[in-house]
Amino acid sequence: MVTAKAQSNAYQIPRTMRAWVLGNPDELSLVEKPVPEPGPAEVLVRIDAIAVCATDIEILRHGLPASIEGELPFNKNFTPGHEYMGTVVKLGPSVDEFEIGDRIAVEVHAGCGRCQRCREGMYTSCLNYGLHSKGHRANGFSTDGGFAEYAVNNVNTMVHVPDDMPDEEATLIVTAGTAMYGLDVMGGIIAGEGIVVTGTGPIGLMGVGVAKALGADPVILTGTRDRRLEMGRRLGADAVVNVNNEDAVAAVQRITRGKGVQYVLECSGAPNALNEAARMVNRGGRICLAAFPAAPVPVDLAYIVRNNIYVFGIRGEGKSATHRAAALMAQRRFDAKMIHTHTFPLGEVPTAIRYARERIDDAIKVVVKMRDN
Ligand SMILES: [Zn+2]
Ligand SMILES: [Zn+2]
Repeated sequence: MVTAKAQSNAYQIPRTMRAWVLGNPDELSLVEKPVPEPGPAEVLVRIDAIAVCATDIEILRHGLPASIEGELPFNKNFTPGHEYMGTVVKLGPSVDEFEIGDRIAVEVHAGCGRCQRCREGMYTSCLNYGLHSKGHRANGFSTDGGFAEYAVNNVNTMVHVPDDMPDEEATLIVTAGTAMYGLDVMGGIIAGEGIVVTGTGPIGLMGVGVAKALGADPVILTGTRDRRLEMGRRLGADAVVNVNNEDAVAAVQRITRGKGVQYVLECSGAPNALNEAARMVNRGGRICLAAFPAAPVPVDLAYIVRNNIYVFGIRGEGKSATHRAAALMAQRRFDAKMIHTHTFPLGEVPTAIRYARERIDDAIKVVVKMRDN
């Protein structure tokens, strides 16, 4: 058998590639773009698969949180998409961390490496965000992303993908990494501690898988859709609560026999989610907000202060959480690919996005796959 590495000279890299670019809001068109050149500490990745994320849908319609040189990303020849995996096909100068032919998944943010936050490992909160001149990149946010055939990536954003992990599953590494980062910022000492995950979107479901793999007990998932709650059970939830049928706080108190939990990972963005989370944790408990409501909401701060409750927010997947999530997935500690529901080819990105946006056919993770193998 000839391995991909043995064929390292076999990657014919064309001068141009197919790439989707954002015109006016919600206007995507497929164009030919030059294939980018990797610089120092960068490689060229042939993209093999990319998942559609709710943030992509937000960017297409409203621009933010993407920003190109400080401006909204419309009509700037910008290629969105950030949850991708692929094959290393060309190395930039001095790169020896990866080899041509390696399968990799990427995290979104390459920090600048020189600001205080990057030095602390909080590179998703880089103080030089969006400044390419200082080395910062964020795939599909401030630099070109993955709805294309090729992309350049900094080696510090890449994680190896085991040979036996399907492309579709590898696109979920960054989603699981985001959930992992949420557990990290709350302290990460969760074996034997109770956690509630609120919301059954991709991050919530991956949050269940990661928390269980790290030994949390019990893991309680709340949501509104039975099919997804059932999926949460198969990902490791000890108990699930349909909040249409039962008050979420009362259910958590019932399940924990009045003790409450140590942690809440809030992934629903529901307007009252923080107030409810505060009543799910016990005194001194910790809440991480991984989603947020569209408009400002009233919060019972007195309750939070009086009970010494810690509230954290996360942006992206810092502190190499993606690497740890990938390790759990490589060890088959939870079955991430369960949340992958639909696949489309590169030519059908707008359809893929429509499936994700309108949740057609109960779509959870919609993946665009570049080739059939
Ligand atoms: Zn995403
Ligand atoms: Zn930085």
